[in-house]
Amino acid sequence: MQFYKLRNLDIAVDKEGADRHAKVTYPIRYGRFCEIRTPEYLFQFNLNGEIKYIRGLSGNWPHPAEWLKRTDANDWVFYSVGGYNGIYYLLGEYYLPCLAYRSNSIWQYDPFDDANVQQALAAWTQLPADLGSLPANGAPAKIKNALARIARHDQPTLNTRSKSLHRIIGGPISVLPPDTRHVDYDVIPLMIADGCRYHCRFCCIKTGRRFQPRATDNILQQIQDLQRFYGVNLRNYNAVFLGNHDGLGAGPELIRRAATAAYIAFGLETSYVKSPTLFLFGSVDSLLDGGPTLIEAIGRLPYYTYINIGFESADAATLRRLNKPLEIAKIEDAFQMMLDVNRNYHNIEITANFLLGDRLAPDHYRSLIELARNRLDRTYSKGALYLSPLETNPKNRELRAKFVEIKNLSRLPVYLYLIQRL
Ligand code: SF4
Repeated sequence: MQFYKLRNLDIAVDKEGADRHAKVTYPIRYGRFCEIRTPEYLFQFNLNGEIKYIRGLSGNWPHPAEWLKRTDANDWVFYSVGGYNGIYYLLGEYYLPCLAYRSNSIWQYDPFDDANVQQALAAWTQLPADLGSLPANGAPAKIKNALARIARHDQPTLNTRSKSLHRIIGGPISVLPPDTRHVDYDVIPLMIADGCRYHCRFCCIKTGRRFQPRATDNILQQIQDLQRFYGVNLRNYNAVFLGNHDGLGAGPELIRRAATAAYIAFGLETSYVKSPTLFLFGSVDSLLDGGPTLIEAIGRLPYYTYINIGFESADAATLRRLNKPLEIAKIEDAFQMMLDVNRNYHNIEITANFLLGDRLAPDHYRSLIELARNRLDRTYSKGALYLSPLETNPKNRELRAKFVEIKNLSRLPVYLYLIQRL
């Protein structure tokens, strides 16, 4: 690590953060990064010189342990401690991610309305131009290079870069798997299939495209382009999302090829952040069709793999109303398979999505409890159930009460699913 003082800026390059993701109650940083401290703000940048975090240092900042994070899609997320709200109980995390775009959050709090947060973002927008005019001639080469990288990555450049990322993978990602919270949503996206199988009526994230695995050449080209896109900052990633809405449906061979090629090309073995992790969404049919062959192929990969299955409901009438063409027998078989895989594979964790909404029938909740309680002989910590709020307004209190009821009865961990895009 190297420090330098330039006028009222304290600059540090090659700072070392944690080398493993952890759930903590303070602003933790991972991998290697560079930072600039002004009297009012702490700005932290990735190895490419792109802004990643901002934290206010004055008494006006909403809370000393809160911060702003910029994603690779150039979205700002405010990490709120959430007040005395039982955030960990609801999300499994100590922070509430507040998004600058519409999602399915049941919280009304919008930090982007706060003048202090707006001022922090304005201060960052001005910073690259200010750095360009600073007399850094006497600074050590490492410091000068870091400042030049930061000055190059101003707001328009970051906008252009997020568009390049989307061009490489074929478009923005409307939703990341809920399990990506374990790596703070810092995943390298690699698309191995487009579209989905069911086209459910309630779904606000579907693309409307027919399910279609990508060609191997397309996947290898993405890997090459992503390697170039992330550049030296690639070493700060330990996780890959094999998208899109039903990556699992691409089958064992394509998953194996994509995950292995990504592991090698992205240098995950030597990443600054340990424990390579793979994330996929899957459907009930892809899980059942793939069966043991698919699971064994995934189990041989050099990753800890999370597979998130969209069940939505185990009640036939609710599924009909949602226009999800699935029979209850399949839901039950897939749920049982999830329980078996979670017991028998140390490096695979299957999690499940169900809907939470005040207009859903009592049978939806009864059937969910039947699966999550009556089928299990004891409580298990592996294989969470995520409840995704549907029609989140305006009865948040009732929705929360319903959540608490299910969580108390379930023998699997239960959390809320907050939709985040990339
Ligand atoms: S819920 Fe899943 S399967 Fe249904 S339309 Fe949305 S993405 Fe497709």
